[in-house]
Amino acid sequence: AKDSGKRAYRVFSPDMDKRVADYVWLNTNLRKGLEEKELVLHYQPRLCTRTSAVVGAEALLRWNSPERGQIAPAEFIPYAEESGLIAPLGRWVMDNAAEQAARWQAQGLDLRIAVNVSPRQLVDTAITAHFEEALRKARLARCTLDIELTESCLIENEAAAISLIKEFRKLGAEVHLDDFGSGYSSLSQLARIPFDAIKLDRSFITAIDVNPRSQVVVRSMVAVAQELNVEVLAEGVETPAEEDFLKAAGVDCVQGYLYGKPMPAAEFEAWLAGRRRL
Ligand code: C2E
Ligand code: CA
Ligand code: CA
Ligand code: CA
Repeated sequence: AKDSGKRAYRVFSPDMDKRVADYVWLNTNLRKGLEEKELVLHYQPRLCTRTSAVVGAEALLRWNSPERGQIAPAEFIPYAEESGLIAPLGRWVMDNAAEQAARWQAQGLDLRIAVNVSPRQLVDTAITAHFEEALRKARLARCTLDIELTESCLIENEAAAISLIKEFRKLGAEVHLDDFGSGYSSLSQLARIPFDAIKLDRSFITAIDVNPRSQVVVRSMVAVAQELNVEVLAEGVETPAEEDFLKAAGVDCVQGYLYGKPMPAAEFEAWLAGRRRL
């Protein structure tokens, strides 16, 4: 009896209460937030290490809730994935990023936009048709959108994932393997799946300049990628010393707070203009 009492206590822990309360709140508010345009994409710059030019941006979702203020994606994406709301949310992200890409093309800005696609979106094979539709609706002269996938996308049904990846590439998107090295069997997947680039996980980049073991791992990942003709991106770059190491190691593109945080499009444009005046 004592034992089951303990278990019952755990089931109704305050932590659980909070999760249930969050779920209930998200359930009524996220769909509404999507409909009422409370969601917005922020853009974080990506630079080429060779030229230091800004070559693109990653689109990162933000939710400005009138009730709770700005909510980070880590707090609502998992719920969206669980509830199925990720499908309309993900389509909204693609539509919006395509519209932004068209505006930047019209301004003569040569920038690619990387869009995050969650594993749960890949179970819907209509996703590439929607992507094509988003490009068409935005009247993009050429596709400047790229797709970031995490390794967990690929574990469940690799064959299906590969055919979607090929379709995205046919439509003109590059497909990047996000959070590279943070999961399982990354190297073997790289051998089988036609990625254009890998994005080294932030956990390798943090203090890379002073961690000899991470340095060895990053150098060997770069070597493998280069042999496979796959580009290497690094995220979470926060210091010049980290940047120096990554440049020397042969990383192609960098992204991180050192250059800029994710910003609303207008702020991104102002940031870019300021940089170009330097
Ligand atoms: P992610 O795709 O790995 O995105 C990178 C995260 O690292 C972003 O967090 C970014 O703000 C943060 N970051 C960038 N540079 C630095 C740095 O120098 N230092 C540190 N400490 N952090 C840095 P964010 O925006 O909170 O996004 C978290 C995650 O939410 C993303 O991880 C992605 O998995 C997911 N996410 C964001 N937007 C979307 C979306 O539109 N669709 C989907 N499916 N997932 C999204
Ligand atoms: Ca990403
Ligand atoms: Ca990442
Ligand atoms: Ca991540």
